[in-house]
Amino acid sequence: MNLADSHCHLIYKGLGEQQPEVLARAREAGVVAMLNISTREREWDEVIAVAEREADVWASVGIHPHEADEHPDVDAAKLVEKARHPRVVGIGETGLDYYYDHSDRDRQRASFRAHIAACRETQLPLIVHTRDAEADTAEILRDEMGKGAFPGVIHCFTASREFSEIALGLGFYISISGIVTFKNAKDLQDTAAQLPLDRLLIETDAPFLAPVPHRGKTGEPAFVADTCRFLAQLRGEDPEALAEATRANFHRLFSKTLG
Ligand SMILES: [Zn+2]
Ligand SMILES: [Zn+2]
Repeated sequence: MNLADSHCHLIYKGLGEQQPEVLARAREAGVVAMLNISTREREWDEVIAVAEREADVWASVGIHPHEADEHPDVDAAKLVEKARHPRVVGIGETGLDYYYDHSDRDRQRASFRAHIAACRETQLPLIVHTRDAEADTAEILRDEMGKGAFPGVIHCFTASREFSEIALGLGFYISISGIVTFKNAKDLQDTAAQLPLDRLLIETDAPFLAPVPHRGKTGEPAFVADTCRFLAQLRGEDPEALAEATRANFHRLFSKTLG
């Protein structure tokens, strides 16, 4: 299997301390591409450093909605400047999280729009986190798309079928995490089974969300193979073919990975 993990956090606690082993296990499982996602400004240089060191790892620059309050000064210009680095292939993760509300909602929305402006300028894809905020996420994406198109992905998709259709309609990709393997994820499984193959990505969001049969463990990119096998069975597809299609989608969306 040749797999891409479209979203992981290789510097986070649980993975950062054993990065060579984590990368070795990922490669053994067939993972040939990993996107190392940042969520705070102080992580930017560190995620980029991993990507400079490892040929199969790329980096993103962004501020997670949880961290929006802490980064009032991160604007589009700052993101654009950092995104010039050759190993930075996406902008995010950004978006709206009204489940935890760790940051003020106005600040979350302002930060989200700043990231979108950076995408429009760089044409790098937007990496969107959205939780309990479908209506506002859809409204902002539509509104901003009206000012000029930009590519993107809804990461760790757990939203409704209706939201998936809106995202697809805007040209977005949808990334499925290990959550799809959970027993209580029936609605997500139904939606994931219907998503068009040419817009699908797979991710671990490691160290979080370890899929079945690894639940309770620290998530790591190698587990993207388990999610791929589960998703293939759900969709009635060959796991190898699904791995190959989602890998190709990853490089089509994050086209800067192609150099
Ligand atoms: Zn997220
Ligand atoms: Zn994440």
